[in-house]
Amino acid sequence: MLDDTAVENKGEVVYVADPKLLSWCDAVPVFRQRACLTHALIASYGLLHKMRVVPSEAASEEDIRKFHSQEYVEFLQRGVPEEEDEGAQDEFGLVCGLAGGSLTAARELTSGRTKIALNWCGGWHHAQRDMASGFCYVNDIVLAVLHLRSAFPKVLYIDLDVHHGDGVENAYLFSPKVVTLSLHRREPGFFPATGAVEDKGLGKGKLFTFNVPYKEGINDKQFVYLFESILYPLCEVFIPDAVVCQCGADALSQDPLGGGNLTLKAYTTCVTHVANLSKPTLFLGGGGYNKSNAAKLWTAITSTVLKCPVSAEIPEHQFFSWYGPDFELEVTAGLRKSSNTQESLDQTIKAVHGNIEKLAEVLGQK
Ligand SMILES: [Zn+2]
Repeated sequence: MLDDTAVENKGEVVYVADPKLLSWCDAVPVFRQRACLTHALIASYGLLHKMRVVPSEAASEEDIRKFHSQEYVEFLQRGVPEEEDEGAQDEFGLVCGLAGGSLTAARELTSGRTKIALNWCGGWHHAQRDMASGFCYVNDIVLAVLHLRSAFPKVLYIDLDVHHGDGVENAYLFSPKVVTLSLHRREPGFFPATGAVEDKGLGKGKLFTFNVPYKEGINDKQFVYLFESILYPLCEVFIPDAVVCQCGADALSQDPLGGGNLTLKAYTTCVTHVANLSKPTLFLGGGGYNKSNAAKLWTAITSTVLKCPVSAEIPEHQFFSWYGPDFELEVTAGLRKSSNTQESLDQTIKAVHGNIEKLAEVLGQK
């Protein structure tokens, strides 16, 4: 018999997933099979039983139009002629499906039924109002933040992906209600090349945008140092009512595109700090081009937010062979040298702290 009282348990973590959402996510050519790998690994550790699994409801055209332009929506509805398109046949269906996961998660938070929601099929941070960018067709994050703001006036968006969270930043560039904080690799020729520390918002949103750039080869110690030095002073000044944290896995060591050198530990440490803010929080996926490592990361984060430690050895399951030859959950750091120095990190932190102080002045705290 179903027990309805469980639904009212606010301590419960919500995990948004269903076969359709996983298949929409797996339909994005560069990420094929990644969503199923992740879901299967989480299931293999028995973690599905520790969460309330909520099926995703696809977004409507009206939902999509709340951020994306009419021209872009029409473009997606027309679809790509078959001869130019090898994969997705129904772009608009895909977009509504992908956006639906994060919207469903956001609704769980605004309803008060839960304080933590996870959607590893979300995190498409590059999508712009009127165009797709960087493998992102729809900005589910912007749509989720829009919905969260119906119940939570001030939202903090944190972006851990190795790439700059440009789509989300641009959407909220003029907003004093949404602070965006993106840590990312920024070097000439590295996509999308935006997100300088001096870029801090415009108009009424001036000083509400935070960028924390770093260079190739960043390691756990350096990343966590940057994050801890900035998150807490920022949250003393801008006290968020809700948090969205994009956990793109492409800053991990061995990512073919990222060039970072992080292990799972850097991410889970940052996630623990975010969870310790004790605000309604939505954790999302994002980039991650080494698919088995992305699956490992999101499983490790799931275990962290559930405070439910898992074995270092991958359990036998359907996709077990993907994790050879060592079949371990850990992602080890490479031997590469970091291009970041203590001095360069401190310089960045100093600049960001300067921006936080100016924000405190604007908010009348000094
Ligand atoms: Zn990325």
